[in-house]
Amino acid sequence: MPMGKCKNITRLLSDALDRSLSTGEWVAIRLHLPTCSGCRNYRKQIRLLREAAHTMSGISMSDTAGSDD
Ligand SMILES: [Zn+2]
Repeated sequence: MPMGKCKNITRLLSDALDRSLSTGEWVAIRLHLPTCSGCRNYRKQIRLLREAAHTMSGISMSDTAGSDD
C-alpha cells in the first residue's frame, strides 16, 4: 500500500470541505477508501469535526441574533 497515495487522498478529503472536487478526484477517493481503513477513519473524523464546528457556529449565531432584541 503506497503511503504517498494516502497523503493525497486525505488532502482531497479535507479539500472537499472547502471546494468542489473534480470527478477524477472523487474517483480516486472512491477507489481508495474501500482498501484503506486509515483514510476511512480520517474521513469519519473530519466529518465529526465539521459537524462540531457547525453546531458551535449555530449556537453563537443564534446567541448574537437574540441579544439585539
Ligand atoms: Zn489511505
